[in-house]
Amino acid sequence: MRRLPLLAAALALLLAGCVPTARSSTLFAMDTVMELTVYGPRERVDEAAELIHDAEGLLSVTAEGSDIALLNSAGEGEVHGETAALLARALEICALTDGALDITVYPLVRAWGFTTGEYRIPEDGEIEKLLEGVDYASVRLEDGAVTLPRGALLDLGAVAKGWTADLIAEGWREAGVKSGLINLGGNVMAVGSKPNGGDWVVGIRDPFSDGLVGAVSVRDAAVVTSGGYQRYFEEDGVRYCHIIDPQTGRPADSGLTSVTVIGAEGVLCDGLSTAVYVMGLDAAEELWRENAGFELALVTDEGEIYITEGLEDVFTPMDGYENTEIQVIRRG
Ligand code: ADP
Ligand code: MG
Repeated sequence: MRRLPLLAAALALLLAGCVPTARSSTLFAMDTVMELTVYGPRERVDEAAELIHDAEGLLSVTAEGSDIALLNSAGEGEVHGETAALLARALEICALTDGALDITVYPLVRAWGFTTGEYRIPEDGEIEKLLEGVDYASVRLEDGAVTLPRGALLDLGAVAKGWTADLIAEGWREAGVKSGLINLGGNVMAVGSKPNGGDWVVGIRDPFSDGLVGAVSVRDAAVVTSGGYQRYFEEDGVRYCHIIDPQTGRPADSGLTSVTVIGAEGVLCDGLSTAVYVMGLDAAEELWRENAGFELALVTDEGEIYITEGLEDVFTPMDGYENTEIQVIRRG
């Protein structure tokens, strides 16, 4: 019996040795601040950082020599296997959202100044003209050879971070990582659980203040938010956000101010967060009812909160939203 405390101490030491140390890194890429945390060797963080820079080199619409930049200047060409794979998945998500996500909307993103920061309100005629080239369904992709319709320019900015997070998570899991958190500028991917076995808790920013509207408890899931409060400009009291409605060629104004999509696949969540922001509440409900693989947490311009029923037990309102009635969207 007297040995028991000693045994317990030895056991505790042994267990402590089993919990890997956290390795973290903060970097700036894809126009945003990224944070990588892994409970495992530093190598995993370094590999992930390299993967991010490689992905940016392939996918950036502005970086000279990227697959996308080359394609946009020539209108056609061969792309790397990774680019082709993302392009194929992105086109599926465009179709799934009936074109609310449209990866050919870039001429309008650029015309409104969201690429350069030189914001402006284009004339109606200019918008009409640029819209003629917008049509994801006319993009041809065959064995890595891409052809763009006339006047179209590709931009994978709405899906690139989610896709990159998927690749990092896949690599980490293959390397045996049981616990990690990938945050690519608010595009979060939780790998496994917390090192103590609990869920990761991911905050959702309050679109109206610096706090949080709530948090979700997840494991092995992406949590991706698109918001009109993230990148926008104001003129004559009107706010113009960086997400463009491909129907109108103007900044989306659907009544939603924050859209969070939660699911296993980062690229799907990223694409859908942008698309749902364009679609608005009613179309979002319909999309969710007709498809599996994701849940939604929505904040309207009036500050109402809607969640789909899969989040009922994992969403916690915070920072002043504790008494806000949460409307649950159900299947049946
Ligand atoms: P962020 O990258 O700022 O987190 P999103 O994932 O919502 O936000 O992507 C927004 C980016 O996608 C814009 O900066 C623009 O380049 C591009 N984009 C804007 N509207 C659309 C759209 N309707 N479909 C596809 N891409 C879009
Ligand atoms: Mg997105």
